[in-house]
Amino acid sequence: MTEVVNPASGVVVGEVPATSLVAVDAAVGRAQRAFESWRKVGPGDRARVLRRFAGLVDAHLEELAELEVRNSGHTIGNARWEAGNVRDVLDYYAGAPERLTGRQIPVPGGLDVTFHEPLGVVGVIVPWNFPMPIAAWGFAPALAAGNTVLLKPAELTPLTALRLAELGREAGLPDDVFTVLPGEGPVVGERFVTHPAVRKVCFTGSTEVGTRIMAGCAEQVKRVTLELGGKSANVVFADADLERAAATAPYAVFDNAGQDCCARSRILVQRPVYDRFLELLEPAVKSFRVEDPALDTAEMGPLISAGQRDRVAGYVDGAKVAFTGSCPEGPGFWYAPTVLLADSPADRHWREEVFGPVVSVLPFDDEADAVRLANDTEYGLSGSVWTRDVGRAIRVARAVEAGNLSVNSHSSVRYWTPFGGMKRSGLGRELGPDALHAFTDVKNVFIATEE
Ligand code: NAD
Repeated sequence: MTEVVNPASGVVVGEVPATSLVAVDAAVGRAQRAFESWRKVGPGDRARVLRRFAGLVDAHLEELAELEVRNSGHTIGNARWEAGNVRDVLDYYAGAPERLTGRQIPVPGGLDVTFHEPLGVVGVIVPWNFPMPIAAWGFAPALAAGNTVLLKPAELTPLTALRLAELGREAGLPDDVFTVLPGEGPVVGERFVTHPAVRKVCFTGSTEVGTRIMAGCAEQVKRVTLELGGKSANVVFADADLERAAATAPYAVFDNAGQDCCARSRILVQRPVYDRFLELLEPAVKSFRVEDPALDTAEMGPLISAGQRDRVAGYVDGAKVAFTGSCPEGPGFWYAPTVLLADSPADRHWREEVFGPVVSVLPFDDEADAVRLANDTEYGLSGSVWTRDVGRAIRVARAVEAGNLSVNSHSSVRYWTPFGGMKRSGLGRELGPDALHAFTDVKNVFIATEE
């Protein structure tokens, strides 16, 4: 059994069994058998079950959100958005089964058609930072395309995934079509990689583990999607709306206590407005509301664990702190929003993913310098560009090597647009119209018509 802890109080809120290797293998076998019938369910019927699933998530939105607040310390506002995102992703991909069309390609002597065939059993491995949305980004398109799914939530945050599986059953998903297997990464997750009947692994987590998963999948030429770490840049040019850029910057990095792969954790500010930007940033950081995440007013809750808090503190030790916000004292894994001044791009806190409420600021000289510094990282997940010059906005957005860029905004994720990383931030894209194809293989069939 694994204890589940409320990070806002440190109190144990439940116990969840850890799935053994033998039980994983048995679940793979059942999912493999269930695939044979699920793939044959008519597209309209498959769509209807997913739409019912979306409806049940909507009906239980508040319950799911409260569960996430207790298990993950997310603010209630964020947790409601996350449960709503699961509903929307299910709803969006519920529209897919009837539209998963192939092509008819002109050939001599017959008819040539393509089919998008489901892969079989798909293993989805989820991290602890966004337990609900990241699970749905994998299971919803996988199920819509006709696959069966085994999902491993993170050890620290299994509760909402287990509840979602119950709602899926209630919606009418047949036995063993969608199974949640809580447990340890090196046991359950690793078995998804090594078991030959698991035909695809959809992994979100650290670049370190993702790299090993890709190597393991290569042995069986197993399909793999990777959503990994990030160290995204928020580039503020001198001609930008500085007030807005400074007022929004804390939300772009401290949301979810900075435990967000898209966190804009490097702020690059053009030198002439560097001091003014910091003057404007300070009150925005100081007024950021870090409090009991169950309160409607909370903008940030605790970190996920004591270990994560120690890790984050390790990046701040010895660094140049510009200013900090505040956080509650006492039990729970609290850490105040912190702004660091980078001496150079070699600083550890500038280079490595902190995954906490810490942002580093560095000045730059001109557009070329900004692009060079933004790209001076192994990661490439997201980023923001603040400028009033349309041409520059487009040039810089095209030049920054990242999968998700925003101009005069920090938005990264919409369920109907593609999401994913360049460089060591990942491989493949989730969400949007094309994600479905990542859960199918194209088959070409030629039918001779000559007598
Ligand atoms: P992690 O890599 O330690 O764990 C992620 C998941 O993998 C967990 O479920 C874990 O149990 C499992 N796992 C661990 N070892 C495994 C193994 N050997 N084989 C198979 N599975 C294994 O990451 P984490 O600490 O839970 O999450 C934080 C990381 O996730 C950060 O680096 C963050 O940037 C990244 N992340 C990326 C995205 C994205 O979309 N790009 C989204 C969220 C989080």
